Amino acid sequence: MTLLRQYKAIILYLKRKSRYHSGRSTPLRAGRAVSLNDAIEALVTMEIFKEFTFEAAHRLPNVPEGHKCARLHGHSFMVRIAVAGPVGEHSGWVMDFGDIKAAFQPVWKQLDHYYLNDIPGLENPTSENLAVWIWAKLKPQLPELSRIEIRETCTSGCVYLGPNQD
Ligand SMILES: [Zn+2]
Repeated sequence: MTLLRQYKAIILYLKRKSRYHSGRSTPLRAGRAVSLNDAIEALVTMEIFKEFTFEAAHRLPNVPEGHKCARLHGHSFMVRIAVAGPVGEHSGWVMDFGDIKAAFQPVWKQLDHYYLNDIPGLENPTSENLAVWIWAKLKPQLPELSRIEIRETCTSGCVYLGPNQD
């Protein structure tokens, strides 16, 4: 993890910690005193993930003529959502897996048992485009999001690390 990504993870961690401690959603104020313990704790980062599956149909409109993916077919898609951050000293975790599930649930509902080509933004529903689409929906709800992995078969898929890699 580069210094910039580490720094972003620290800021997210401190925001979350301040929210948990105050019991309400208070943005981290500039100039807030950060204890040495907070800073050290925030440097120990880890990535956790949760996996989901959904069933959906699609066809790929831009493949060469005669390509099998041009025909209507379906997959049991697997989506692995990863978040990165420090391991809380008291909680012992980066985040509750239930929080990942809750954040992804509305997105999952838009995908499961649908024809993906009908969904705005997924007119060409490759795994790569699906990962980018899910990222855009999920990131605002899950700022700690660090990686999305899509598998459309047991042996084929993609990994997306987000739009701003440094
Ligand atoms: Zn396919």
